[in-house]
Amino acid sequence: MRNVNNDCLFCRIVAGDIPATVVRETERTLAFRDINPQAPVHVLVIPKEHYSDVVTLAEGDPGLAAEVLTTAAVVAETEGLLTGGFRTIFNTGGYGGQEVFHVHAHLLGGTPLGPMLAR
Ligand code: AMP
Repeated sequence: MRNVNNDCLFCRIVAGDIPATVVRETERTLAFRDINPQAPVHVLVIPKEHYSDVVTLAEGDPGLAAEVLTTAAVVAETEGLLTGGFRTIFNTGGYGGQEVFHVHAHLLGGTPLGPMLAR
């Protein structure tokens, strides 16, 4: 694999060094439950390769960005979110509130989620 960062929490999950509750794995993506869920369903979808955020992923490997979205869509279906709807978020950078700098889509659902931003 081209991009791996041994100091990155999510790269260590991909490597199996840190446990995670995996809900779907493909050759190039991984989906696992968030350790601090903000909704009844809260899954993180990542590329296995290390890209720090959605901008570097989209620039570096748009096909892989598409695979992340495809995995998110499949997990939305397997988690039963298609009927009620769900939310997908890529927090990016400081203003975006990003805490883990390995790109991840938050997939949230299972209840009405309310307004997109706190008011
Ligand atoms: P963000 O603020 O968008 O960078 O989101 C990082 C997310 O990673 C947060 O929702 C955390 O709860 C989640 N998280 C941190 N450590 C772990 C872990 N070991 N396993 C699963 N999720 C984690």
